Amino acid sequence: MRKINKLLVANRGEISLRIMRTAKEMGIKTVAVYSEADRNSPHVKFADEAVCLGPPPSNQSYLLADKIIEACLELGVDAIHPGYGFLSENATFAKKVTDAGIIFVGPSPESIEVMGSKLAAKNAVAKYGIPMVPGTDEAIVDIPAAKIKAEEIGYPILIKASAGGGGKGMRIVKYEAEFEEQMHRAISEAESSFGDGSVFIEKYITSPRHIEIQVLGDTHGNIVYLFERECSVQRRHQKVIEEAPSAVVSPEMRKAMGEAAVKVAKACNYFGAGTVEFIVDDRLNFYFLEMNTRLQVEHPVTEMITGKDLVKEQLLIAEGHPLSFAQGDLSIQGHAIEIRVYAEDPKNNFLPDIGNLITYVPPKGPGIRVDDGFEQGMDIPIYYDPMIAKLITHDENREKAIQRMIRAIDDYQITGIETTLGFCKFVLQHESFVSGDFDTKFVEKYFSPDKLTIHWEEEELKLLAGLAVEIFDRQNSGLKRVSGQNGISNPRTNWKNRLI
Ligand code: ADP
Ligand code: ADP
Ligand code: MG
Repeated sequence: MRKINKLLVANRGEISLRIMRTAKEMGIKTVAVYSEADRNSPHVKFADEAVCLGPPPSNQSYLLADKIIEACLELGVDAIHPGYGFLSENATFAKKVTDAGIIFVGPSPESIEVMGSKLAAKNAVAKYGIPMVPGTDEAIVDIPAAKIKAEEIGYPILIKASAGGGGKGMRIVKYEAEFEEQMHRAISEAESSFGDGSVFIEKYITSPRHIEIQVLGDTHGNIVYLFERECSVQRRHQKVIEEAPSAVVSPEMRKAMGEAAVKVAKACNYFGAGTVEFIVDDRLNFYFLEMNTRLQVEHPVTEMITGKDLVKEQLLIAEGHPLSFAQGDLSIQGHAIEIRVYAEDPKNNFLPDIGNLITYVPPKGPGIRVDDGFEQGMDIPIYYDPMIAKLITHDENREKAIQRMIRAIDDYQITGIETTLGFCKFVLQHESFVSGDFDTKFVEKYFSPDKLTIHWEEEELKLLAGLAVEIFDRQNSGLKRVSGQNGISNPRTNWKNRLI
């Protein structure tokens, strides 16, 4: 058992703040790191101490492992929390941290290494009877042999970079004739993006849902699952709306997926918070996709329905405490939804739309949580992920959580940049989302930019025409028409009456 008195968060923005808030509640002193672009960010102001790492590009700041470790040694830091992205899934960094006598808030470097490679992960879990998407289990070296395998699996197939992440490094091959060309492209892309050209093939599941299980393990061998998150609403293979629980998961399926996730975690001697991702086909068969060995972006929905603070649990585990609850102590309370508010233009292919947050007023009220990292007047820098905030709502059931989210979106005021708010409102009101019958193709199937432009229904146009006539009449007669019980003019009924 080793007490953490001072924690450095090797990250920026909303996640850095979110982690430091919990640390503060636990009486832990906090150290922020920042690049020159983030000098005035809320996470820097919130921390007890802050260290400038260098110029804005990540490889000159947030990715400087040695500089971060040096700062820890200088400031007497006990532990580093890596957040998500950046160094969070870098086994070499985790090892360097541990070797320097600092606690790494996360799993062992060995677990990160195994799960960081999609192929190594598949091999590690193979003997535990976890269902897997049909595909190859080794990096492809012989392209003609892989082509034969692809035919056996059946098109469409997906070529994936073993080291890929963040929705990058995937290519769909629809027909045999495209196979060689796509394969060459995939390999060179994997090499240039991830420094590792290993690719493999998987059957492309055509109407899949992405459902993942949150796990928590301690250093004493206990592992529990904290139910599922439905993350099927995606663009570019990256999530935009997540919810817990999923509308399609029955208690039996939840238990089966939860137990499979625990086996995956056990396969790599996992401790800390982790997520086991599954792809689910249209008959609700689930298959292991990968494990993310870190805190996930969408972890708040799990916190809302379980009442557990996942960062607090991570810090307690890192100090060496056994989990203070067992599987049977956990239950689902209500329903939670998260939308990711990105500085992106949904009308322009979701391209980043960075700039100045001229107005920034987040929504308030019961059951609403906003995890953000910016303030009004700040610039969204071009160097990093363009996520401005996560908006989370919680209520007693799915329908109410959706209603609350729509209200919260309407109350969220952002001007100066385009965001995903309007797009998310479109999704939440769509019958396919409301009914729970949707898959990862939601955006392709139902969304087009014109969905975000205002459509005047025929009835509304008639009402407007009526209003124009009414105003014209009033101006010309000087008379004030009074109707309605309280004597207040009710133009709506009047225009209607005029038109009938
Ligand atoms: P999550 O898996 O937690 O739901 P994302 O897939 O959106 O979230 O990824 C979390 C963050 O990590 C994002 O900022 C994403 O860009 C980044 N990220 C994930 N994997 C990689 C990777 N291999 N290389 C670079 N960035 C990554
Ligand atoms: P990453 O490391 O980029 O998160 P994942 O393996 O988790 O990669 O896949 C990201 C997303 O890509 C999934 O959520 C899903 O939408 C899609 N995807 C991955 N594998 C398949 C597959 N075999 N068939 C169909 N879609 C897939
Ligand atoms: Mg993934």
